[in-house]
Amino acid sequence: MQKAQVGSVTVVALVDNVQAYPASAVYPNAGDALQEFARYLDANGAVALNFAAFLVADGDRRILVDTGWGPEYQGKLLEELSAAGVRPDEVDTVVFTHLHGDHTGWNIDRATGRPLFARARYLVPRADWDHYAAQQPPPDSFVRDVRPLEAAGCLELIEGERRLTDAVTTVPTPGHTPGHTSVAIMSGGERSFILGDVVLSPIDAERPELENSFDWNHEMARATRLRVMDRLEAERALVGASHLPPPGLGRFVRAEGRRVWQALGG
Ligand SMILES: [Zn+2]
Repeated sequence: MQKAQVGSVTVVALVDNVQAYPASAVYPNAGDALQEFARYLDANGAVALNFAAFLVADGDRRILVDTGWGPEYQGKLLEELSAAGVRPDEVDTVVFTHLHGDHTGWNIDRATGRPLFARARYLVPRADWDHYAAQQPPPDSFVRDVRPLEAAGCLELIEGERRLTDAVTTVPTPGHTPGHTSVAIMSGGERSFILGDVVLSPIDAERPELENSFDWNHEMARATRLRVMDRLEAERALVGASHLPPPGLGRFVRAEGRRVWQALGG
């Protein structure tokens, strides 16, 4: 858990889990290009991927961006939320960057089958809902964690930009999935951007053109990744990134002529 202030808004990184993935599996076409990134890899060539969600506290609003891998992955999201001083029933809005299973895992209370964030509206990008609902069969995580929200009456499909508070707005950033969405925060002249899976590892900051195994549309994802990182670097925005090293807050900065990820406080 790590808190940061953006004007009058508090952004909290909540680490659900961390898992190591072979870099050659994340970037199957990278080949020798990975050798120059040994500093980001362990002795086995694996890159540690964070699985983070983010809490955005603005006035009396409590907005949760994504819900992690969930209990089946020994997720710590609820403990992290508690450490941040927030109960699940205080969350008024859950908004998803996209509908992959590592971002929807804590939606449903496994004991009751009811939404775990009991008082929240769940905002789902419509293009992701349409995409995964149409698959035959739909992904298991969609059936378990996302579809029940409709019958529970708390689901709202969103498109385009959606203003959540005066300071917090959703922004479409497609490519990783059809409806991939980020959350932009602007308060007191300061900016923050929760970018979901637009960027997966620190390697992307330096080699944004590398294809990864998880993007739905490589060309669109690459264009979005470049555009978003250019903007965030220029704005010196505080970035929340699901899979960047825990807890997942930092900035894109220039160092020796190249763009690098700089963890907050690092
Ligand atoms: Zn993800």
